[in-house]
Amino acid sequence: MRGKRGDDMQFHRMFREVLIVSENEQTIRELQKILDEVFTVSVYLKKEDALEKLRHKLGEVAIVICELAEVERDDYRLIRGMNEDDKLRDVPLVVVGERREESFLDIHAEIKCLELGAVDFILKPLVPDIVINRIKSLIRLRESTAMLNILERDSLTGLYTKEFFFKRVEEYLAEHPDEKYLLWVSDIQGLKVINEKYGFDKGDEVLRIMGEYGVKHTPGFIFGGRIEGDKLAALVYARDKSEMNDVIVENDTKTPFPVSNVSIKHGIYRIDTKLNVTPRGMYDRALLALQKIKSQYGVFLGEYNDALRQDLLLKQMILGSADEALEKHQFKVYYQPKHDFHADKTCGAEGLVRWDHPDIGFMNPLLFISLFEQNGFITKMDFYVWEEICKTLKKWESEGVPIVPVSINVSRRDFEVPDLAGRITALVDSYEIPHSMVHVEVTESAYSDDPARITETVKKLHDSGFVIEMDDFGTGYSSLIALSSMDLDVLKLDRSIIENDHPGSEKNILEFSMQLAKMLNLKTVAEGVETKEQMERISDLGGDYIQGYYYSKPLPADEFAKYLRDKNSENK
Ligand code: C2E
Ligand code: CA
Ligand code: CA
Repeated sequence: MRGKRGDDMQFHRMFREVLIVSENEQTIRELQKILDEVFTVSVYLKKEDALEKLRHKLGEVAIVICELAEVERDDYRLIRGMNEDDKLRDVPLVVVGERREESFLDIHAEIKCLELGAVDFILKPLVPDIVINRIKSLIRLRESTAMLNILERDSLTGLYTKEFFFKRVEEYLAEHPDEKYLLWVSDIQGLKVINEKYGFDKGDEVLRIMGEYGVKHTPGFIFGGRIEGDKLAALVYARDKSEMNDVIVENDTKTPFPVSNVSIKHGIYRIDTKLNVTPRGMYDRALLALQKIKSQYGVFLGEYNDALRQDLLLKQMILGSADEALEKHQFKVYYQPKHDFHADKTCGAEGLVRWDHPDIGFMNPLLFISLFEQNGFITKMDFYVWEEICKTLKKWESEGVPIVPVSINVSRRDFEVPDLAGRITALVDSYEIPHSMVHVEVTESAYSDDPARITETVKKLHDSGFVIEMDDFGTGYSSLIALSSMDLDVLKLDRSIIENDHPGSEKNILEFSMQLAKMLNLKTVAEGVETKEQMERISDLGGDYIQGYYYSKPLPADEFAKYLRDKNSENK
């Protein structure tokens, strides 16, 4: 191959190669002479070999030039074949031949070639300037169509790109309104990890194969698109959820991924054309259904329903109105008594937040705490709640309420605040409240997030006189060593332990927890005690304190102050 002329390089950046199919030595020589300056020219005597090459180097071949005699040899099968093949169709085919004026047959051949899909017919004798200019303009045309294709198709998966996919969905639904469809989205779990572990090439390969086998080969597939990095979507004919589930499970197990343990999760949205949902909206809904099942083990397909949407809207509303809630004092603190049943008196309380939302209504923290933990707002809210508790304690003190220590809940995210211990101490000090009147609850599972940091913060708080309670004990994974090295005063046994207790059973967790607390010299609070039997059981096992509906539900501040006063006068 000789060096190519610089000024010509610009227009054959994408496709460099010209294939010539001919047995005619003169044609070959002439074409080579004309084209060799600009292109890489390969000559094939047989069209079968040329086709083979074409299939393998589709992205490089600019044009195929074929001798008329060769095209005619098997009744134009080459042209027909190329035109019927989805991929080969885009490669222009030019026929070269002689026209003998006296022969009607030859004119017929020229027309027939063009009719069947050849893009041009170049007459012999070949005039170099004409040949080179015609070939160049054909290639330019091909390049601009290919450019369009590049924007339309994702180069890796061959599926549509995002915008084209959405556009095609819209068009297709309008063109074929009588069928029923699903918008289906698939997400490769942990593609990031695959990239990191095996390299980006493998990650790409996983995606490509997913597009090829997992999506395109699915029965009912109409067309698909790559929407985000690891998310592929498709329009498919509707089937019911269990059928769809069978199809995808079978598909995914058969898909020949280059690495093992690729897990794929799917979401579907049943398209109802009467609803005026945009394709983007359909995709979002299918994705929502997917996200819902993302963390569910052994579940691979989620279907969108309206409850999911309500859920989403609620979440958006919660997150969107959080700042305003702080400003407008919509967060309220309720107090749930802790009962010392040996001394039969209230020995403390836990401060629990509620949200009096103007539109949603009175909200339980389970609805918003985890959302606030995700977006970090929890820290603002917690400081607000702690301050409310301090204010209330101070107020009660001045009103002569027989106050008890109140515990504050510290979220795992709060530990990201620099000098959290110092800030809590400063807050409590600013209300001149003795540290012993404030207990700090830290959920067991938080300790494993960042053990060093949490242990250090907890130690500081403990050293300055705050009582530390490990919350939700039994739901985390504390080792004995970890437990004994932490500065704890109290184990709060999670409600689930009490709820699932079966006295007399082997390896009883409630009994074990009580023994553990004794070994470590910690007091216990049994949470969620609702019945007399549960209370007696805790008592039998030597528990210290109980917090649960059996004694009282969480109460608004005023009611709790009254509760304390009433208990106090009962005991006199
Ligand atoms: P938690 O810290 O484990 O609080 C105990 C939960 O158990 C409270 O739920 C309480 O109302 C409930 N409970 C108490 N006794 C019983 C009973 O006998 N039966 C039943 N079924 N439930 C009982 P609540 O108030 O809904 O709070 C839920 C969770 O929200 C809390 O669990 C805590 O993790 C979190 N939370 C509450 N307030 C705050 C706060 O101010 N800050 C932070 N970071 N989290 C909070
Ligand atoms: Ca708690
Ligand atoms: Ca708890």
